[in-house]
Amino acid sequence: MKLKSVPIESFQHPILSQCGVSVDVKRDDLIHPVISGNKLYKLHFNLAEFDRKKMKTLITFGGAYSNHLHAVACVGKELGVPTVGIVRGEQLLPLNPTLKDCVTWGMILEPVSRAIYRQKNKSEQIQEIISKYNSAYVVPEGGGNLLGVKGAALMLGDVQQDNYDVIAVASGTGATVAGLIYASEPHVKVIGFATLKGASWMAGEVEGFLKQLGCHKSNWEINCDYHFGGYGKKNNELASFVDEIGSCYALDLEPIYTGKAFYGVLDMVARGVIKENSRVLFIHSGGLQGART
Ligand SMILES: *Cc1c(COP(=O)(O)O)cnc(C)c1O
Repeated sequence: MKLKSVPIESFQHPILSQCGVSVDVKRDDLIHPVISGNKLYKLHFNLAEFDRKKMKTLITFGGAYSNHLHAVACVGKELGVPTVGIVRGEQLLPLNPTLKDCVTWGMILEPVSRAIYRQKNKSEQIQEIISKYNSAYVVPEGGGNLLGVKGAALMLGDVQQDNYDVIAVASGTGATVAGLIYASEPHVKVIGFATLKGASWMAGEVEGFLKQLGCHKSNWEINCDYHFGGYGKKNNELASFVDEIGSCYALDLEPIYTGKAFYGVLDMVARGVIKENSRVLFIHSGGLQGART
């Protein structure tokens, strides 16, 4: 599937003018009418590999609100490829909007218990599910493999990095931020905002990806200060922040990923951690579908 280019828009906010910092938003949420920003990039080279190996079925993993599961189901429908989603948690009914879309687009859902899901790399039960399907190409949870990282690197393909000092993105598996780091120029600082609690593993994960790519950059950090209690968790402050940025500043975010990261950016500006005269590029990684109820 083609990756089209998306606009970069200037974002205005009183905190930014007071602190003398500029923020541009790269609207990767607009890359596709349905597929969530970064997920299409992470699938890009995985789909090429699927073709090259002449595989027949795309199998992947995700929770019930997973943007990645949703993206894979949509890709399957557009390309006419059968898809299977191994879903965390046995109780899927009534289907939420994410899973409803997946089923409408023909994805077969294979629910497994949380305990088995956690063991997904070694579980026999999961191996059995996979072996039921014809020539299965397995994409890991979140599309977070090395091909996913290389795809995420394409997000900076047409960005004039001279115009920026900081590049910021929301992080879950760390694959997207690893791709951005790989593609970054040494003068920019890349910040991945962890949206999960206890994400001290993430820096190691990112380092592992970079090592496999022969990349030894150190112009990056994983910020763990804005998880708001953990994955999928939010408080009133985050909820009203997301509402306000949408209604007063015309930038639609959601509370799972982009809302937390964007909150982090503005807070770091307000605290002077992101310094005066800095030029920030915020990557809008999409995700609005996952916030439907
Ligand atoms: C999946 C997702 C992320 C996290 O991407 P990783 O590569 O897993 O770190 C960030 N933002 C949105 C909107 C997502 O759907």
